[in-house]
Amino acid sequence: MFIDLPQVNLPRLVIVGGGFAGIELAKQVRNRFQVVMIDKNNFHTFQPLLYQVATAGMEPDSIVFPLRKLFKGVKHFHFRLAEAQEIIPTKNIIKTSIGEIEYDYLVIATGSTTSYFGMERLMANSMPMKSISEALDLRSCILQNFEKAINTPDLKEREALMNLVIVGGGPTGVELAGALGELKKHVLPNDYPELDFRRMQIHLIDSGERVLGSFEEKASLAAKKFLEELDVHVWLNMRVTDYDGLEVTTDSTEEFRAATLIWAAGVVGVRIQGIPDSAKTRGGRIRVDAFNQVVDTTNIFSLGDVAAMETDATPQAHPQVAQVAIQMATNLGKNLKRSATTREGWKPFQYKDKGSMATVGRNRAVVEASFMKTQGIFAWFVWMFIHLIALVGFRNRVVVFFNWLVNYINYDRGLRVIIRPFLPRKNS
Ligand SMILES: Cc1cc2nc3c(=O)[nH]c(=O)nc-3n(C[C@H](O)[C@H](O)[C@H](O)COP(=O)(O)OP(=O)(O)OC[C@H]3O[C@@H](n4cnc5c(N)ncnc54)[C@H](O)[C@@H]3O)c2cc1C
Repeated sequence: MFIDLPQVNLPRLVIVGGGFAGIELAKQVRNRFQVVMIDKNNFHTFQPLLYQVATAGMEPDSIVFPLRKLFKGVKHFHFRLAEAQEIIPTKNIIKTSIGEIEYDYLVIATGSTTSYFGMERLMANSMPMKSISEALDLRSCILQNFEKAINTPDLKEREALMNLVIVGGGPTGVELAGALGELKKHVLPNDYPELDFRRMQIHLIDSGERVLGSFEEKASLAAKKFLEELDVHVWLNMRVTDYDGLEVTTDSTEEFRAATLIWAAGVVGVRIQGIPDSAKTRGGRIRVDAFNQVVDTTNIFSLGDVAAMETDATPQAHPQVAQVAIQMATNLGKNLKRSATTREGWKPFQYKDKGSMATVGRNRAVVEASFMKTQGIFAWFVWMFIHLIALVGFRNRVVVFFNWLVNYINYDRGLRVIIRPFLPRKNS
């Protein structure tokens, strides 16, 4: 059964995914194509601030934006809340959870999801943080464990309920660990005066030689120092191999006891069935050419985290970051507008790396941008400014700004509410 969509005299471009890549492409090609966007959520998520939702610093509504509102009034734009299930390239059809859609051009911008590298017990017992619902689950899980801890007479058990282990020392793990360090220092002791917070431990574990491995060494060292100032124990060259919900096993002699383990150590592309086998590449990604066209297809493209453009310059493909997704979408949008049929004048994708940044609690950040490299309080202001302007929606920018201002002045996190159902967790 086909989904009901108006027939117009424009080529139909179906975009799967309203993430950074999907929304940028839809903006680029508006009015030139009939754009049908499919997403399993009716909102765009600003993932770089998920950790603030997870640590009670921000309400979820501030970092998401309704996709219908984003494209309100745009002619020939149609949104459908649906999950894309299978592509049939020979018929130019995509099957979704609500029916089939015919396309002239198809763009897969489905992003990535957490990868546990096949470690099933770890997956069953740990907390990911890749979506707004996972960030809320994490917040509830941490707070619920503190509620349990105050009623637990056994000291070892109580410590385990308070302890937190974060696996993965990339920007996500570092920012989360910093925010949790702030919670431990300034917020939780006020809420739970019965608990001895000297006994609470936050561990950040990474298999590499330094945190923020993709940054320069100076920035990595600064981030580690900032974390240690917040009482975060940083463990390097260490791999977590198992977790039963309480005991964390590593490839070293070190073992940890914690009721919460947050997994920020890997992602895998979200592929849809029907992609040619020749286009499937490592990390669950889709192999594309220099114009983001999926190899061995004629009218299917892929953008962002799920796309892998493996060239001599980027044998491992581009990093899975927002800037790559946005720039790929801008380039494809411009090419499609030049001429979708003849492809005359099409330009290959060239990534302009504008740099990276990560924050570690208040007043501390590292910035490695094309225009500056800095660490500390100035970097923190730069980090805040860049994230504010990158947020989707004026209301969100205002709300986030005031949230940060209030948190900065009173050192508090006002959103320590448990609004998710109690999660069934083994052994805890
Ligand atoms: C916690 C965290 C922090 C991050 N911090 C940074 C940062 O500081 N800087 C940075 O540059 N990058 C950061 N990133 C990475 C950045 O968010 C991603 O690179 C970016 O979101 C990729 O954009 P995308 O459009 O490819 O995918 P996404 O933004 O993930 O969007 C994919 C969309 O596809 C939808 N979807 C998926 N499968 C289906 C399906 N089958 N059917 C329908 N819809 C589907 C999803 O609902 C989603 O809306 C962070 C990521 C995380 C998780």
